[in-house]
Amino acid sequence: MPKQTVPDIEFEKFVIAEISKLFGDKKILINTEYKTFKLEAKAMTTKESIKKRFEIILGEFERLHPFIHKDTERLHDVEQKRILFFRQQGLCAECKKPMDFKNTSSHHVTAHAKGGKTSELDQAQLLHEKCHKKVEKRKRKAD
Ligand SMILES: [Zn+2]
Repeated sequence: MPKQTVPDIEFEKFVIAEISKLFGDKKILINTEYKTFKLEAKAMTTKESIKKRFEIILGEFERLHPFIHKDTERLHDVEQKRILFFRQQGLCAECKKPMDFKNTSSHHVTAHAKGGKTSELDQAQLLHEKCHKKVEKRKRKAD
């Protein structure tokens, strides 16, 4: 018989909340993990059982919310913007009209928050400030 332990009430509440979140959507837990989870759930109050189930939950959380490595450089520097300006021959990537360099705004094609790299200039565009706002708004709607 495994040793019974008095569960930490707050921890158990947290675990139960996480379980119900995961089980709210049946397709989330893959079958084998679901079975392991249910099997472990029979030994509700043992430390080992809680630990094992918690690891399953963490595994699922990692799978559903993969860690994104964000570039530590958030913004393009002047030199990068200059390269983009020449590459685009001074034309806005959105409206294709001429830009005034000091009123340009650089855009991450793959959003910085989604892992877009500031150092990769093929992932960058130079836009009018107002065009940049338009592009960001359109991208937000598409997400
Ligand atoms: Zn423009």
